[in-house]
Amino acid sequence: MKCIAVLTSGGDAPGMNAAVRAVVRTGIYHGLKVLGIIQGYQGLIENKFQQMEASSVADIIHRGGTRLLTARSEEFKTPEGRKKALENLRANGVDGLIVIGGDGSFAGASRLAEMGMPVIGIPGTIDNDIPCTEATIGFDTAVNTVVDAINKIRDTATSHQRVWLVEVMGRHSGHIALEAGLAGGAETVLVPEVPFTLQDIVKKVKKGRQRGKLHNIIIVAEGVGSALDISKKLEETAGLETKVTILGHIQRGGTPTAFDRVLASRMGAEAVKLLLQGKTNRMVGLINRKIENFDIDYALAQRKELDLEMYRLAGILSI
Ligand code: ADP
Repeated sequence: MKCIAVLTSGGDAPGMNAAVRAVVRTGIYHGLKVLGIIQGYQGLIENKFQQMEASSVADIIHRGGTRLLTARSEEFKTPEGRKKALENLRANGVDGLIVIGGDGSFAGASRLAEMGMPVIGIPGTIDNDIPCTEATIGFDTAVNTVVDAINKIRDTATSHQRVWLVEVMGRHSGHIALEAGLAGGAETVLVPEVPFTLQDIVKKVKKGRQRGKLHNIIIVAEGVGSALDISKKLEETAGLETKVTILGHIQRGGTPTAFDRVLASRMGAEAVKLLLQGKTNRMVGLINRKIENFDIDYALAQRKELDLEMYRLAGILSI
């Protein structure tokens, strides 16, 4: 292994830059040539390689987004696109590739590994929906962003004694909703993994009012439906007046938390070590606070369950 390359792909997440920095500097420390690929798999197909020096990743550990830029590439999903990508890797002398991204990016990484290119995946997504790791890079930052928003909404919700729906990201999973809901002291957390009825929400609001609660905050993971629709239904069926805040892409940005920077640094370094050990088609993951590694196809075949114990706790603590 003499030359490695790194790219960021799919949805950006705070901490991706810290992971790229760790890959570049660990690689250089071990005497490797390190190339950065601009715009993920699309840039790989378009041959957008650049040589990385230790100074190329200066001043990025604290920045959100990704300096390598990211993209979604339909072309890479085709065998022709992947053939071109592999040819470019070979032409640039790349012996191993590190892909930082979500499950879609991992599926792409696995295809490249099948074609004979050693590939290691680093889980970078705010959704925390990748199996075989307790945390993905960006999740902690996104949760803290949501909690900060809940704190602010709570001030005005309390002053006006309002019911407030806060829609957060999570198309298929409620990890952000649950952790932010628990940390923010929300009364109700609606997630795709747990069925709910409008009556459940109304009951909780009425019970809270009876015991003198001044506000009622309902976190809605986007995967359960639009918070605006739920708000309308609450108005129509129970006469509940509600306000809605949709946090949207605010959750993607911002300076990464210390947790995400440390996680990204450790995962980036481990990914380089795995390539040096001759490993391929592995992803790094955090298990019991240790950095472990797993077969990517095995990981993609698992389902990351929501912590239902934590879900129940959020309900108990908001009575
Ligand atoms: P994320 O990595 O955040 O889940 P996407 O699902 O958009 O984001 O995946 C990022 C990119 O990975 C896609 O644009 C595509 O180029 C590549 N990709 C996704 N799924 C596959 C697949 N099944 N086979 C090959 N490449 C894929």
